[in-house]
Amino acid sequence: MADTLLSVQDLTVSYGRVEAVRGVSFDVAAGSLVTLVGANGAGKSSIINAISGLVRPSGGRVLFDGDDITRAKSHRLVPRGLVQVPEGRQVLATMTITENLQMGARSLGRGAGAAIDEMYQRFPVLGERRKLAAGSLSGGEQQMLAIARAMLARPRLVLMDEPSMGLAPKIVDEVFAVIEEVRAGGTTVLLVEQNARRALQAADEGHILQNGEIARSGKAATLLADDDIIQAYLGTG
Ligand code: ATP
Repeated sequence: MADTLLSVQDLTVSYGRVEAVRGVSFDVAAGSLVTLVGANGAGKSSIINAISGLVRPSGGRVLFDGDDITRAKSHRLVPRGLVQVPEGRQVLATMTITENLQMGARSLGRGAGAAIDEMYQRFPVLGERRKLAAGSLSGGEQQMLAIARAMLARPRLVLMDEPSMGLAPKIVDEVFAVIEEVRAGGTTVLLVEQNARRALQAADEGHILQNGEIARSGKAATLLADDDIIQAYLGTG
């Protein structure tokens, strides 16, 4: 059995009277890529925001590398190796690309410059435009910047919230190539996606969410090969 890096146990998230997440449990093995898929409003973002400390769960526990982080603040989790790439990219639009990357590299001290240069080699488009405002980048480039910024914190676990949202199919392929590269580099990935088919193609394991609960779980390849699942949850597209 691979080591469990993240364990979500009976997690519940409520907004007032709305129970957005109800008793969700799953584990993420170290080095794996796990995806949570489901329709708009199924509770995917609420789950990863609860894991990363952006939303306070109303019940359940989250363990990271065996430590209870259920009530830990988001900024305290970054140095411990848990980083989120937020939905909608949320790069700092008026700051330059370099300034955005410097924010991600803060913990590296004197090594920050070299680490940022490495990112410019990996993403030449960011290097060429390093002095420009991040808001001048295309949606796909902003997504790459958001991932690069998160990776500069040298996370053990990266949470990604709908990284392909709003991007053209060719750019979606590029983003998924980067996600697979992140995982190949040894970082564990928990990926939330509406693009279920694409996410399951990249993942080791998947959980299909419906109305705040896990409807089905399994190896991603098994879920993808199951016609009933495709019909019931993933649509025909
Ligand atoms: P999306 O793809 O739209 O982000 P999702 O699967 O990530 O969907 P959530 O964003 O977690 O789903 O939302 C789950 C439910 O919780 C939805 O019914 C949503 O309307 C509700 N919800 C989410 N955030 C809040 C909030 N801040 N206040 C009240 N209700 C919320």
